[in-house]
Amino acid sequence: MSQASLHDNITACDQCDTLHSLAASERGQRLRCAQCGCVVVNVHEQGAGRLVVASCSALFMLVFASAFPFLSFSSSGASRSVTLFDLVEVLIQQDFLVLGILISLALFVFPVVYLVSVVFLVTSFRYAILKPFFQSYFIRWIVALQPWLMLDVFLIGALVALIKMDSFSEVRFDLSFFAFCVYAVLLLKTVSLIDRRWLWRQVSLGQVPVDQVPSNQMLSDKVSFNSGQTARQLGFVGCHFCGLVLNGAERRCVRCGHSVHSRRPHSLSSTIALLVAAAVMFLPANFFPIMQTTFLGSSESSTLVGGVLLLWSLGSYPVAMVIFLASVVIPIAKILSLSWLCWQYYYPTERETRQKIRLYRITELVGRWSMIDIFVVAVLTVLVQLGELVSISPGPAALPFAATVVFTMLAAMTFDPRLLWDKTANSSYLDSAEKPYDEACH
Ligand SMILES: [Zn+2]
Ligand SMILES: [Zn+2]
Repeated sequence: MSQASLHDNITACDQCDTLHSLAASERGQRLRCAQCGCVVVNVHEQGAGRLVVASCSALFMLVFASAFPFLSFSSSGASRSVTLFDLVEVLIQQDFLVLGILISLALFVFPVVYLVSVVFLVTSFRYAILKPFFQSYFIRWIVALQPWLMLDVFLIGALVALIKMDSFSEVRFDLSFFAFCVYAVLLLKTVSLIDRRWLWRQVSLGQVPVDQVPSNQMLSDKVSFNSGQTARQLGFVGCHFCGLVLNGAERRCVRCGHSVHSRRPHSLSSTIALLVAAAVMFLPANFFPIMQTTFLGSSESSTLVGGVLLLWSLGSYPVAMVIFLASVVIPIAKILSLSWLCWQYYYPTERETRQKIRLYRITELVGRWSMIDIFVVAVLTVLVQLGELVSISPGPAALPFAATVVFTMLAAMTFDPRLLWDKTANSSYLDSAEKPYDEACH
């Protein structure tokens, strides 16, 4: 085996730094980290072909979904139907610029850039139409955009908006709505087929300078897989962006160009600062109204909790619970659980680190679902515009609430879960020779 291919066959787990052999995970295999339980590699059978089919079909469905009305609304004899583009246009026309930008990013910009990058990248692997430099940029976009794809959240938001309106008007799904559902499912399918380590390995085969990665001799002397050794213990550093394992002295990854750190620099201070910002934003988000309804000349405002109580009093229990969970429970739980995890670094308890990592993973997974209420407000604002008769507009709490969600998502991203393993009492990870941890350096 050549040196270039051997170093490419090891990687470090993103969440606990344990070294794994990739040799056995070429096709149709999923490699789960034995130490922390996270999925390290998930390479699909005929992944390249399926990726191109799923992403091209998703783009086609977006064109189809944009061409016809999305939803129709009628009340007291007046009616109105809107397309997907109207969602953005009406919000911007009515001076809700930030909300309009948020919706256009969520529905069009992020998914389209993501899908087009996937199609170009995977096609270029086969036909060599792009140089590795450009391929690496496409992978960067794909990895960076993935957490911000929210079509499924938007879809649930649109359904909630319909149920909210159901009591005093008639709302109908139009043709585009069903095309949009298929678009959302195909995007989810594309995301599930992406494995960034697999993508990087397609780009870099045979191109990594071998003097900057662990040598064959060093690997065979030091690494014994399945024994829970971490990259850091052996003097290596795992690139958090592409998964390559490098010599500990490297500051920049030779494959993807990203800066490399044994642990994310200033991870905890960034997380804590973002949590404080999220908590501060959550106060006006609850204090001010998130939605204002004008009905036959009289105006009524509702706060986040007020909207939930109203739905409950109208008997829409499942929707009230969804909104309560997404808008109140998840943001609070996320701020508290990430704060607790930061606390665990300084004052670790006896609780198993695997459980803490599981809490972190759940926190990361559910965070974006808090956006439901923002999407509900946006859909209702665009749909319910019947002049004097009835109209809905976002309240002053909408932007602070969106900021809370974004800050908590960023806080989860900046938190480095490997820190928890470093502080685990009785862990095989604690090397007696290891120096006290310094976050800002290797
Ligand atoms: Zn792990
Ligand atoms: Zn890298």
